[in-house]
Amino acid sequence: MPIATVNPATGRTVETFEPFDDDAVELRLSRAAAAFAHWRTTGFEERSALLRRAADLLDERQEETARTMTLEMGKPIGAARAEAAKCAKAMRWYADRAPGLLADEHPDAADVADSGGSEVYVRYRPLGVVLAVMPWNFPYWQVIRFAAPALMAGNVGLLKHASNVPRTALALERLFVDAGYPEGCFQTLLVNAAGVERVVRDERVAAVTLTGSEGAGRSVAAAAGDEVKKSVLELGGSDPFLVLPSADLPAAVERAVVARVQNNGQSCIAAKRFIVHAEVYDAFTAAFAERMGALVVGDPMDEATDVGPLASRQGCSDIEELVRDAVGLGARVECGGDRPEGLDGGWYYRPTVLTGVTPAMRIHREEAFGPVATVYRVESLQEAIDLANDSPFGLSSNVWTTDPAEREQCVRDLQAGGVFFNGMTASHPAFPFGGVKRSGYGRELSGHGIREFCNITTVWVG
Ligand code: NAP
Repeated sequence: MPIATVNPATGRTVETFEPFDDDAVELRLSRAAAAFAHWRTTGFEERSALLRRAADLLDERQEETARTMTLEMGKPIGAARAEAAKCAKAMRWYADRAPGLLADEHPDAADVADSGGSEVYVRYRPLGVVLAVMPWNFPYWQVIRFAAPALMAGNVGLLKHASNVPRTALALERLFVDAGYPEGCFQTLLVNAAGVERVVRDERVAAVTLTGSEGAGRSVAAAAGDEVKKSVLELGGSDPFLVLPSADLPAAVERAVVARVQNNGQSCIAAKRFIVHAEVYDAFTAAFAERMGALVVGDPMDEATDVGPLASRQGCSDIEELVRDAVGLGARVECGGDRPEGLDGGWYYRPTVLTGVTPAMRIHREEAFGPVATVYRVESLQEAIDLANDSPFGLSSNVWTTDPAEREQCVRDLQAGGVFFNGMTASHPAFPFGGVKRSGYGRELSGHGIREFCNITTVWVG
């Protein structure tokens, strides 16, 4: 894949970039190793001050940051601004909280005595150079939710960003440099996917985190495993959205629409499979299809746009193919189902609702990475849970119910890294984020995220 900025609203190439050659990669690896030797010895006060400075700079640069995101991957401009603001908030959260999250831990005095020691504690020490392989869909947020905790823990970062967001990748490096981070603490590697394995295997790299597709995760984790290096994988999702009879139906419909089309439908935690109890199925489906069909599809730079283009020609044809397969096997199109007219050149797809989906259809098991929803009818909560779990993925889940017993059953039985009631899944710096099954392993955000790339060290004094 060429490294290039291509406007998804027009299909036109804006700028192309030469991938780094071996010497350029080598230079950054050696800079990263040198930076770690110093950065690991700094205190939280210095790390927090720099991260706060970077957050302030990001706020100052919010408009240009947002416009670059929208130009490169097509998210509506208002959502791009919100993403930049959310990143600054997460940076401040880690600047404030990291010292507490990584404070030394002291076991029970009885256990210390039982071990024969006079003093025992646990120290969270940094691991070293961490490689981050990141996707284009939230091109700032995915990177910052890795970088903020990693830098606060005393690690240094190397970013291999998706090939279609090179301006964003370079702007991220500039942000940390301009904030005053020492040389080598956070660097962008302009390399394509084929250049990743060599970096993972380099002895100066301690660990890798990847957010992206299952295929990319498998190959990066295989190389990391072969080198016995820590990896964290945040992969795809096909999150269920259960609507039960006690749900506030108008609110559920309104959230369902946002949950499906946020980021033009290209979010790992978008609700993708809507599993609705028979008692409310007709009312939910009719209202949902009506609202999805009424969304404004158009230029993502236009403030009035609800749904912009898909980020790539390939992504658009993948979605067309998934819908064609389902319709060919008997699925019904309640709204959408094709590309809009009059937006020539851009990779647009109309918000679509499919019913009558069966396990024979690809969309039943594959992730629909675009504004396409499937709605299923079930007779009971047990059937809803069984259907929700009938997926290779297990990222998050959404349930609409006011019944405490139903809620408890969902928390016990849904195979996912999150269960969100009467709302939609959203990440927050204070709460762990990640999945099970083919959605990956490890957690980002919160104390769990910052400790993923730490050497959890037992200190025992006799
Ligand atoms: P992708 O193709 O896997 O790309 C993600 C990153 O991995 C890019 O930097 C890409 O580089 C790189 N990459 C791809 N193949 C690779 C390989 N074989 N070896 C090393 N690196 C490789 O993902 P995508 O399709 O663009 O992004 C969408 C996917 O990400 C969806 O499945 C979505 O659900 C998932 N996602 C998950 C989360 C989460 O937190 N769980 C968040 C966002 C997105 P190039 O661009 O150069 O190919």
